[in-house]
Amino acid sequence: MNNIILTGDRPTGNLHLGHYVGSLKTRIELQNKNDYDEYYIMIADTQALTDNANNVDKVKNNIIQVAIDYISAGIDPNKVTIFIQSQVPELFEITAYFMNLVSVSRLQRNPTIKDEIKQRGFEKSLPIGFLNYPVSQAADILAFNANIVPVGEDQMPVIEVTKEIAHSFNNTYGQVFREVKGLLPENKICARLPGLDGKLKMSKSAGNAIYLCDDEKTVKEKIMSAYTDPNHIKVADPGQIEGNIVFAYLDAFCKDEHFEKYLPEYKNLDELKAHYKRGGLGDVKVKLFLNNIINELLTPIRAKRKELEENVDKVYDILFEGGKKARASAQKMLKKIKEAMGLDYEKLKNKKN
Ligand code: ATP
Ligand code: MG
Repeated sequence: MNNIILTGDRPTGNLHLGHYVGSLKTRIELQNKNDYDEYYIMIADTQALTDNANNVDKVKNNIIQVAIDYISAGIDPNKVTIFIQSQVPELFEITAYFMNLVSVSRLQRNPTIKDEIKQRGFEKSLPIGFLNYPVSQAADILAFNANIVPVGEDQMPVIEVTKEIAHSFNNTYGQVFREVKGLLPENKICARLPGLDGKLKMSKSAGNAIYLCDDEKTVKEKIMSAYTDPNHIKVADPGQIEGNIVFAYLDAFCKDEHFEKYLPEYKNLDELKAHYKRGGLGDVKVKLFLNNIINELLTPIRAKRKELEENVDKVYDILFEGGKKARASAQKMLKKIKEAMGLDYEKLKNKKN
């Protein structure tokens, strides 16, 4: 069976390091492996509006930002179809059919949705569109017959909704959809990179992120402010690794060769951790090391971003072309869906004649 990959992001802000390790890196690896027939990345503007109804400009302006982030991080638009969700209206018709296959309470019980409702203060007044976003996401995935969906850990329960809808559709109307697999990064910390505050996951909405477009100075300031071990006051004090954000980021980004380059007195991360735990290693030294690693990653991304920023129209063209291609695919699937449901009214007409 052919592999079709679909994944996406909400244009609610620039992409951050959580996106990079959680999903973008896997996307780039998949792209370079070439083991797929079709590959789509969707900028989910309609989904972003479900909690930004009064902030259309934010969503609109971030579409291009997210597209620039993708391409500067290594997504190749010649291999991957990048498109804007609202430019494929078939997705919303599919959503309408899927909405009948899942109950309100099922969505309300979903752990990710529950957290997100709380985080957004939606307990008292919950927009229907927000509660419905997992259904709309199922349409986004199934409209392309995608079987591989690279995501971060927070999205796994949402992917479950897609699986349930696909099963329910197949049982009710006949087999149309195949199994969908949410693909997590192998390194556990990368599946849910914590924010600089050490509390929530790194997220655009929580204001605790290092963005791929942050300049060197900003990255350094953010790393210097990252939550470490509040009891590690003097350099000589023994330090704690668990919950220490700087070490969490090192777990996500550090490779042995970084030591040779930036901190040759240690061979690897285990040695550095052991020293920190023993005492005698200050936070600043570890933070400066992390800063070097992050800047090494971001320097080429920043350079590519600068190039693209000078040619924004070209990036819009990529998105609009992608939209046409994605729409053609979704139209084919919508036809299959309607046939399975018996909504192919043209056939009735042919019967009469
Ligand atoms: P928002 O706060 O607006 O929801 P976000 O930062 O959560 O934004 P999304 O666009 O919702 O970003 O998520 C896009 C993809 O990135 C999803 O697959 C999600 O699982 C993944 N992702 C987001 N944050 C992280 C993180 N901190 N660690 C790993 N993956 C993440
Ligand atoms: Mg999110």
